[in-house]
Amino acid sequence: MLTDNSISCKFCGHSDLHTYPAEERMFGIGGNFTYGECQKCGSLQLITIPEDLSVYYPSDYYSFSTLKKSDFKNQLLKKVRLRVFLATGLKSIAPIYGSWLKKIKPSFNSKIADVGCGNGQLLYELFASGFRNLHGFDPFMEKSVEVEKGLSLWKKTIEESDDRFDLIMMHHSFEHMENPELVLKSCFDKLNPGGYLLIRCPVGDSEVWKEKHQYWVQLDAPRHLIIPTVKGLTDLAEKVGLKKDEVVFDSTDFQFWGTAIYEKGISLRKSKLGEHFSKDELVALKQKALQFNQEGKGDQACFYFKKA
Ligand SMILES: [Zn+2]
Repeated sequence: MLTDNSISCKFCGHSDLHTYPAEERMFGIGGNFTYGECQKCGSLQLITIPEDLSVYYPSDYYSFSTLKKSDFKNQLLKKVRLRVFLATGLKSIAPIYGSWLKKIKPSFNSKIADVGCGNGQLLYELFASGFRNLHGFDPFMEKSVEVEKGLSLWKKTIEESDDRFDLIMMHHSFEHMENPELVLKSCFDKLNPGGYLLIRCPVGDSEVWKEKHQYWVQLDAPRHLIIPTVKGLTDLAEKVGLKKDEVVFDSTDFQFWGTAIYEKGISLRKSKLGEHFSKDELVALKQKALQFNQEGKGDQACFYFKKA
């Protein structure tokens, strides 16, 4: 650990950063990277961003997989399932996106954006459940496409769109961006009054980061350029005019088994989970993740911000 005073925290502006070494481990590419940890707000940032990041997004990177559509019968089931879930709150039937919708309560005509949408699968699931004004943004997709009437994927950034939205979501894309203040400002500008910004990302509050540093699976060097703490992101969002509504830790057992695999020196791509952990061990790790979330020390969180 070294101290670097030449740069400042992208979240709070403080200039005392402790630095930690890191390498690319998902694909086993390696390299020498350095992360700075702000000594005031705890947020992390990659100190020197590689000129060509595309090398670190090979073709089997998960967001490039093909969109899977549902047939008529499955769309109907998804519509029913979501409506029953929203009416009853029954957790056993909650779709993956259920808790976010239950909190935000968008209407089926609400204009919803997914920033860094990848192949658009999440938006497609919302479409199948009945939402009809859906827009995905990702400058890295091949070309813009209208997937269905009511679901478009745009090969551009949200800043380049003239539209405004009732809900803007970022599911594990925020940490891939370079300038958090600019991102938050443009989201504020692109939200309708009363609109929600939902950001899900890894957080520097993570106990696993504090214990394992470079082996923490969600450090994900060098793809993750910024990793805020709850305080770092909340303060910056409030600075640009957004109001914190709620922060929910939603980490999983991945933080433990992924990190353990990296500690063994194995790349994520080459590892089969079953080779390293028994079923009982995995059940215990799931339980541990739930406990970490309750204690506010899980390795990722869901932030709800509102434009007043
Ligand atoms: Zn800071």
